[in-house]
Amino acid sequence: MKKKDHFIGQCIDYTHDGLGIVKYNSVTVFVKNMIAGETALIEIIKVLKNYCVGRVIEFKDQSLYRQIPICDYYKQCGGCSLMHLTQEGQQDFKTRRVRETLERIGHLDVKVNDCLMDSNPYYYRNKVQVPVDIKDNYIISGFYKAHTNDIIDNNYCFIQNKFSNDVTAYVKEIMNKYHIMPYDKKNHTGMIRHILTRYGVHTDEGMLALISYTKDIPYLNNLIDEVIKKFPNIRTVILNINKRHDNVILGDEVIVLYGDGVIHDKLLGNDYQISLKSFYQINPRQVEVLYSKAIELADFNKDDIVLDAYCGIGTIGITLASKVKKVYGVEAVEQAIIDAGDNARRNHIDNIEFKCDDAGHFMEGCINSHKNINVVIVDPPRKGCSEQFLDHLIQLSPDRVIYISCNVATQARDLYYLRDYYKPVVCQPVDMFPNTVHVETVTLLSKLDVDKHIDVEIKLDELDLTSAESKASYAQIKEYILEKFDLKVSTLYIAQIKKKCGIVLRENYNKSKKEKQVIPQCTPEKEEAIMDALRYFKMVE
Ligand code: SAH
Repeated sequence: MKKKDHFIGQCIDYTHDGLGIVKYNSVTVFVKNMIAGETALIEIIKVLKNYCVGRVIEFKDQSLYRQIPICDYYKQCGGCSLMHLTQEGQQDFKTRRVRETLERIGHLDVKVNDCLMDSNPYYYRNKVQVPVDIKDNYIISGFYKAHTNDIIDNNYCFIQNKFSNDVTAYVKEIMNKYHIMPYDKKNHTGMIRHILTRYGVHTDEGMLALISYTKDIPYLNNLIDEVIKKFPNIRTVILNINKRHDNVILGDEVIVLYGDGVIHDKLLGNDYQISLKSFYQINPRQVEVLYSKAIELADFNKDDIVLDAYCGIGTIGITLASKVKKVYGVEAVEQAIIDAGDNARRNHIDNIEFKCDDAGHFMEGCINSHKNINVVIVDPPRKGCSEQFLDHLIQLSPDRVIYISCNVATQARDLYYLRDYYKPVVCQPVDMFPNTVHVETVTLLSKLDVDKHIDVEIKLDELDLTSAESKASYAQIKEYILEKFDLKVSTLYIAQIKKKCGIVLRENYNKSKKEKQVIPQCTPEKEEAIMDALRYFKMVE
């Protein structure tokens, strides 16, 4: 195929970023703005090694899922690439995307439910940060044009809340009035880099943060006075200094100019305090759907001891605390953990403990101190969990894992890593980001019976037992330990301790045939119990 070729083709599927996939004589062609099922006359505009890019010249047959995008900037803006799809169309796209990613990357055959959609796909974002620039002597702000650093000057974004749209437009007006200059990336001059707003939908409290290259901003007090006068629901104004020369938005230094640096909001009946740097889910309606689903899947009871890993300001743990015996929360950002502790006190929850730590490292501590955590909720950032975290999760060995993710690709990778130990039972996609290609998922994992799995291998591998080994079967050792210590030990642990004592085992006693096998290690308490049993059965001195 070559550039300018025309053909009539049908869209059969989507790429992860929402382009239509059309096959023509075994060549794959990606076509923007095409919906699965539609037929069109297509022109090839780019030929690459493994695929082509095409554009629609004329539709021959249009989908019932097609709608006219509500936003004038839809074509230029890189944000809402699904705005040409109805809610049913977006549901189809998001459900397919999750299902296909779990199959392709995770090699998993897991039940994927239809994506739970937002009842109103507009005005949902409770946090907005827009870059600021100057064009023809006039301050502009808005999202970037797709694949560029050019700002589209837009005062009215359909997925932001009204407070953010109005406050941002007004700050821009005042910057123009007092000639407060935006930051110039090339020459490192000027001041304001981003305008950030946060809004508590349930409390009507607003936050304004100016992210600036320098502290010296002329007429800053006038700016604050005028904004607060116009928007009395602003509870706090913050100056964040960012001297970096890269794309990271927030700098380290936080100067509170008005109020006490926080706003409040409610989520599933609890009150929360939110500071500038704390993570707080951005869709207030759908976060309630997501958490409720996670709690339903976890099927908590009063004896459960739960770890809320990557807990942010503690929202998940606090929501479920009344249903279980004890909750631990771990999070890497210190301010978020301070907020989490305040949030627990604010809501009179006393069976929850928060710790600022790396989630994997914290879990290692839980294993060593024998915290009997039997349910783990995992909600990592886009990059997913580290192997260290997953290895410790396997060792901690909770009965159920609820894995929440905003990036199904890394979730699929992690579920594959856990495959010998945890089986994904069901995955529920939730539309937290209407009109964009992003989708949140919550997946229930249940523990596989690793004992059974290993028993089979051991029976096959240990047919020629040494004399010491023949003294007691694994079942007898287990029974003895359960009776004497009220402890359950796995065949794998017994085999590990036998090996430590020099009781010869066949080499393959615990090796799975799969790559990247992670082997849980016996805890000191269980090791002692196994040693007692081995002495009892006279297998060691
Ligand atoms: N569960 C929370 C936050 C989820 S976002 C909620 O629903 O609001 C992911 C969180 O993981 C962020 O707060 C981020 O700061 C935290 N995080 C990132 N890497 C981490 C790590 N290695 N250990 C612990 N927390 C981490």
